[in-house]
Amino acid sequence: MAGLITRFAPSPTGPLHLGHAFSALTAAHLAETAQGQMLLRIEDIDTARCKPLFEQQIYDDLHWLGLDWPVPVMRQSDRRPAYRAALSRLAALGVTYRCTCTRGDIRAALSAPQEGAPRIGPDGPVYPGTCREAGHQDPGAAIRLNMDRAVALVGPVRFRETGPLRPGWHPYSPEWLVRNVGDIVLARRDLGTSYHLAVTVDDAAQGITLVTRGADLFDATPIHVLLQRLLDLPTPAYHHHRLIRDAQGKRLAKRDDARALGLFRAEGATPADIRAMIGL
Ligand code: GLU
Ligand code: ZN
Repeated sequence: MAGLITRFAPSPTGPLHLGHAFSALTAAHLAETAQGQMLLRIEDIDTARCKPLFEQQIYDDLHWLGLDWPVPVMRQSDRRPAYRAALSRLAALGVTYRCTCTRGDIRAALSAPQEGAPRIGPDGPVYPGTCREAGHQDPGAAIRLNMDRAVALVGPVRFRETGPLRPGWHPYSPEWLVRNVGDIVLARRDLGTSYHLAVTVDDAAQGITLVTRGADLFDATPIHVLLQRLLDLPTPAYHHHRLIRDAQGKRLAKRDDARALGLFRAEGATPADIRAMIGL
């Protein structure tokens, strides 16, 4: 029997910062304590934003931190056939439809007087369902999940959180999923997949038993568990860790120019200094 298998799954859209170091070191620590393994996965489905240079920097930074992982590393850009297969399976279940709405269309539909205040789900405003019965065939259109049909097949879902922030079981009713998540995008028109679909398919393909990631993704987890049920995939346990904030208390994010690990390193910081900075 394989023991615990967890992962660190960065997107090579910029240099790694202290938040990534915390996530990777947390995953490695959880693997080590359980005599398990940490796998690495490069989440590069968004080819316009991902760069080979950043991927190489990820390997360099993680090695510098003292981390290691089995090779070859899974790269999402190699996984398109697996995402297509999952989409076909969901289509065969009758839980998908094509959507041609632009962001502007969705905003307009949500501001109609009868709609009330839009609910904000894990991907932004809950989709108003405009294209649900439209029967679009356009192969270039986005693909959405019909949440009503999905929950009718699956029923309630739940997952077990093992991190310190919200430990225990987290159950979600069909009604909650319809109201608060709704018809999320499974395949973006430009990418042929979405973060939710790719992460679900790949965690299963890598045999992940514990998903380690930031608390910002906690609300996406019921979507992943629902997709696991629809696709007959096992549900791992989850560890959502605290987020690293800057001196102003703002969450570090690549687009905010958070200080790259490579910069600390160039200034002579050691991996021990990095650990100290993030409270490890
Ligand atoms: N690739 C995502 C990121 O860089 C993480 C996805 C996950 O851990 O599920 O934020
Ligand atoms: Zn639409």
